[in-house]
Amino acid sequence: MAWRCSGVSNADLVGRLFDAKIIQTDSVKRAMLAVDRANFSKFKPYEDRPQTLGYNSTISAPHMHATALEGLAPFLFPGAKVLDVGSGSGYLTVCMAEMVGPEGKAVGVEHIPELVDLAKQNTAKNHKEYLDQGRVVYHTADGRVGFPQEAPYDCIHVGAAADSLYEELVGQLKAPGRMFIPVGGRDGQAIYVIDKDKDGRVTEKKTVDVWYVPLTDVGTQYSRR
Ligand code: SAH
Repeated sequence: MAWRCSGVSNADLVGRLFDAKIIQTDSVKRAMLAVDRANFSKFKPYEDRPQTLGYNSTISAPHMHATALEGLAPFLFPGAKVLDVGSGSGYLTVCMAEMVGPEGKAVGVEHIPELVDLAKQNTAKNHKEYLDQGRVVYHTADGRVGFPQEAPYDCIHVGAAADSLYEELVGQLKAPGRMFIPVGGRDGQAIYVIDKDKDGRVTEKKTVDVWYVPLTDVGTQYSRR
């Protein structure tokens, strides 16, 4: 399915993702219409593929952003507090902030300081008030331990492939709460949806096969080929 939803504008791209039933939820559609990908990707923003951000990082493909927002939609309700690990361009963090509304908060964590600056600049292009109001915040930190200072979260999105289901991240979910996380290495990755129910019971469900950049340390990321 990789690039079949490419469009000529943001609205065209979102329309194609909707027609392909990758977007199914109104709030996801509204958020993706409100956040123009051109403010977050220098290159071919409406192509349904990942694009480079530099620093061995990519903005994920639109169909993966849509899949993540759909998967987390029940936990992206007005007033929710959410964490985006590996926030990169900031695109998905701002979409999450759209969905949680003015009473909610989206926390982006990224370990490359230059990308944190880039995400702030990208966000300021059309959503400067979100930064001013603290509805979106970005931190430079190692997201493998989540971001305990702001925990707990209604949901957690992980934008890079983890080698395991990090217990620290699961521990920072509210009950109920949900995490969307790619898990695996070079020989294959899949999205896992981790649900914590109201009694704190945790269940995991493996969904689609994917290809994400690894969740790693800064040195390894820079030396990766
Ligand atoms: N969701 C973002 C970025 C996806 S790429 C977007 O679509 O724009 C994954 C990002 O995770 C990269 O920017 C990478 O630098 C970051 N990353 C990798 N390991 C990390 C870690 N340990 N802590 C925080 N961020 C990390």
